[in-house]
Amino acid sequence: MVDSTKDEGFEGGCLCGNIRYQSFSKPLITVHCYCTDCRHIGGTGHAAHTVIPDNAFSLVGRVSEYIKKADSGNLINRRFCPICASAIFHTRDGLEGMIVVRTSSLDDPEIALPDRAIYVDSALSWDYINPNIPSSPKMTVKR
Ligand SMILES: [Zn+2]
Ligand SMILES: [Zn+2]
Repeated sequence: MVDSTKDEGFEGGCLCGNIRYQSFSKPLITVHCYCTDCRHIGGTGHAAHTVIPDNAFSLVGRVSEYIKKADSGNLINRRFCPICASAIFHTRDGLEGMIVVRTSSLDDPEIALPDRAIYVDSALSWDYINPNIPSSPKMTVKR
């Protein structure tokens, strides 16, 4: 398929097909988070998050949302499919202008290799932490 927007971008969606999205940007960074909130909603010991600019994000379908304060004090607004409950993306305080899509929702998650790991202090003993990427005990230190 010839589509010039796909040279840089990617697409994704939910399990049932109710939600589809397109990113016109390549992933800026992909972070694996081992915090307890990500564990609860992630289906295993951690969740993978891929960050893109919100002006490069196009969503089709209606998402449900769940807002919760993180231990950083930031409000995180998580969006998910109301039918099949797939996690799609979140936005949060302190990260204005960015969309954080769940890497598991990408059509091809192989394009979003992990750049760093955070909250590894909370990682479960049996979960894998890639030793080849930088990791932080809690949140990523602000650059
Ligand atoms: Zn769905
Ligand atoms: Zn987390």
